[in-house]
Amino acid sequence: MASITNHLPTAELQALDAAHHMHPFTTGDELAAKGARVITRAKGVFLTDSEGNEILDAMAGLWCVNLGYGRPEMGEVAQRQMSELPYYNTFFQTTHVPGIALAKSLADLAPTHLNHVFFAGSGSEANDTNLRMVRTYWAEKGQPEKSHVISRKNAYHGSSVGSGSLGGMAYMHAQGGMPIPGIHHIGQPDWWAEGGDHTPDAFGLARAQELEAKILELGAENVAAFIGEPVQGAGGVIIPPSTYWPEIQRICTKYDVLLIADEVICGFGRTGNWFGSETMGITPDIMTIAKGLSSGYAPIGGSIVSDDIAAVINACEFNHGYTYSGHPVCAAVAQENLRIMQEEDILTHVREVAAPALKSALDGLADHPLVGTVNISGMMASLPLTPHKESRAKFAGDAGTVGYMCREHCFANNLVMRHVGDRMIISPPLVITPEEIEVFANRAKKALDATYKDLKDKDMLKAAS
Ligand SMILES: *Cc1c(COP(=O)(O)O)cnc(C)c1O
Repeated sequence: MASITNHLPTAELQALDAAHHMHPFTTGDELAAKGARVITRAKGVFLTDSEGNEILDAMAGLWCVNLGYGRPEMGEVAQRQMSELPYYNTFFQTTHVPGIALAKSLADLAPTHLNHVFFAGSGSEANDTNLRMVRTYWAEKGQPEKSHVISRKNAYHGSSVGSGSLGGMAYMHAQGGMPIPGIHHIGQPDWWAEGGDHTPDAFGLARAQELEAKILELGAENVAAFIGEPVQGAGGVIIPPSTYWPEIQRICTKYDVLLIADEVICGFGRTGNWFGSETMGITPDIMTIAKGLSSGYAPIGGSIVSDDIAAVINACEFNHGYTYSGHPVCAAVAQENLRIMQEEDILTHVREVAAPALKSALDGLADHPLVGTVNISGMMASLPLTPHKESRAKFAGDAGTVGYMCREHCFANNLVMRHVGDRMIISPPLVITPEEIEVFANRAKKALDATYKDLKDKDMLKAAS
């Protein structure tokens, strides 16, 4: 077998990558022509690539490395668990200590009525679990027809067939036969892009009331659940107007529709509380978790389920599970992540230090001619780029072109800031310091300036008509 180390020259690594490695959400041929950036090491909030560049990771990997990179305790715990019990399953009347401990910790952290955890290997798997669990719940209660699930356009709930169908990404639905039947999508509460002349509050209410209209259209007796991210992440860090979630909650309660909060990004401190549901004032029946649960150090996800749902599901045999549900090494790593978050009081750091510093850094960019506004909730934020702030205009030309240009300038300035369409996305490790946020802001400003210059040079500073 080939032994591949970090010490091969970058071009060789890139050629091998292009020859054998298929990348998610990527046009492989384009990447092959360009060569993937090879990340070799990371510490704190900085990545190192194979050319020795030190890159500030303002995305925490994929929204997950909440504790920052290179915490030695995490590796020590994994090594200890691998020696003691590297694997055992929880299918056939067995259990193990890391799974027990993590389920208990999560029950303690979650809202009071959520006390039961079904583990998965990822957020996608957990949402597949949720889909089957809510349908099984109603079937066991004698209402098998109460099976439809309502989600939002531009939601992200994962990439498996089930979770990708729950998601509302049109470009994903265009491939591979999604969405599967029984899943419906209403409008998203994206005031910036879609709010028109409404006030944010009126728009938030109107978008929430689309849920009521959809329930009435389908018949409440046919609707099992509504699923939503407290703050949409991959959709562009879309923070709903304050009127939105209370109305969604009211409607779910009124029609006996279960509420699934997808906390895969919002959970574990991202919005300044343990869960985005607290930040948004939601009382869900199920929370989806992954990503920050282990700070990305090991793949693990799950569903935290209400006492009511658990009572119904536990009374039947739920024919569902994954080989790696509650994997002991991943569970031990997640447990250590939670221990460090508590011991170092990362939530207080977010609320009192990091989030205010990030907000003030972003407010400092708000005057930039390209930046439409600053959206921020805790440590997740977005900067919609626009040729005209007052009208919230989109750029002429293909959506995402300007965002992509800006992302490339970020990379050139040793900064990872992602783009969703023409929105720049920020979600750094929660442990980031004010000094590091200053480094972020300087590099972001350079990238924005370079993008602005490009647009002027290429005569692309035009609004769509
Ligand atoms: C990333 C994400 C998922 C999917 O998680 P995976 O671990 O990639 O399967 C689900 N929901 C939300 C909100 C996410 O951001």
